[in-house]
Amino acid sequence: MARAGHSRFDGRAVPEPPRRVAVLGAGGFVGSHLVPHLALDRSLEVVAVDRDLGKLAAGLPGVTRLPVDITTPGLLDEITGRAQVVVSLTALCNPALYNTQPLAVIDASYTDLVPLVKLCAARRRWLIHFSTCEVYGRSALDGAGRRMRAMVEDQTALCLGPVARERWTYAAAKQLLERVIWAHGQHAGLPFTIVRPFNVIGPRMDFIPGVDGEGIPRVLACFMDALMRAEPLRLVGGGRQRRSFLDVGEFVTAVGRILDHPATCQGEILNLGNPRNDVTIRALARALAKAFAALQPEAPPARFQTVDAETFYGPGYDDSVVRVPSIAKAARLLGWRPRRSLPEMLPDIVTDYVTRYAAEIAASVGQEPGGGPSTHPRRLRWTKARSASAARARRLAAGGGA
Ligand code: UDP
Repeated sequence: MARAGHSRFDGRAVPEPPRRVAVLGAGGFVGSHLVPHLALDRSLEVVAVDRDLGKLAAGLPGVTRLPVDITTPGLLDEITGRAQVVVSLTALCNPALYNTQPLAVIDASYTDLVPLVKLCAARRRWLIHFSTCEVYGRSALDGAGRRMRAMVEDQTALCLGPVARERWTYAAAKQLLERVIWAHGQHAGLPFTIVRPFNVIGPRMDFIPGVDGEGIPRVLACFMDALMRAEPLRLVGGGRQRRSFLDVGEFVTAVGRILDHPATCQGEILNLGNPRNDVTIRALARALAKAFAALQPEAPPARFQTVDAETFYGPGYDDSVVRVPSIAKAARLLGWRPRRSLPEMLPDIVTDYVTRYAAEIAASVGQEPGGGPSTHPRRLRWTKARSASAARARRLAAGGGA
């Protein structure tokens, strides 16, 4: 029976909802939404750790910023000494890297985090670790290889592709870390919760190549990049593969509720996704183009182009065909049910990208490669219109009205 101030999990004392939380990877897309939610909506003390905290709003009450890499000697020791719970978000979470920088991907998702697991176990700190829906592999299969309608945390098999298909390095590294965490929970006293996010999207996601990053970002930023440059949206393999998209605001609400419920959430693996937003990538492209046209009526109509996966990502790429989460467990443990549809989410996302990038992209595409002004009349007209639209979006984002 639980004593006052404590509940029980597998015979271990578990604290009441913690007050001091460390977030590793606080400067990324998810961290930049999660930290304000924890600090402002839940009044928690947060230590925000990231080598780049650029996306995280400055001056948040109760937030201590630590702009360091998690591999800095002594850092994890210090963090697990101070915080009651550690939320670990750090990873190289971008399919374009899985087959091109697999060693860095494995280190970021596995090697660098094993010491964290051990420290949390030794000190009985609650580790809330962000894994990935990628661990389920190409599609939902049960243990006998039969198709399942949805991916269920404690039932669906984890079926990755062959080793030569390096796409799966990330999923394999994440899966192994899940198993290390699970084993520490079963055999070494670690209080843990594993979260498997399913295609969380929202403002501040990723980067735009050539502006604030290089390479290929995730699909949302790829499509926004194409729309802002008036280039075709490239559909890998024709865009028939499916994803279920979850609003980042609803996602961080669920994570906040995990923190409220240590007794029920410790020792659990939880999918967080929105099965009602299961669409093809082609449908996402069309919906995003529609939202973009509504905000940027001067833009030329969107164009779509099928590209071969290996041409786009390089050798060793492979893909998930369909990814629908079961969220029955999250609904039961957290009382959480995501509601936002894609048409509801996309306008804010488009506004965010246009606000942050359109003027800079316009300045770059207004020049011919040699540096002279573009002479293409359609592109010139659109470039000017984009600069004006970006200014309008910035005023809207700042609350200044249209
Ligand atoms: N994709 C696409 N066009 C792009 C970028 C990605 O068709 O410009 C596809 C990609 O092949 C994958 C899906 O969109 O099937 C989702 O890609 P994302 O980068 O979001 O990562 P994933 O969901 O695979 O982890």
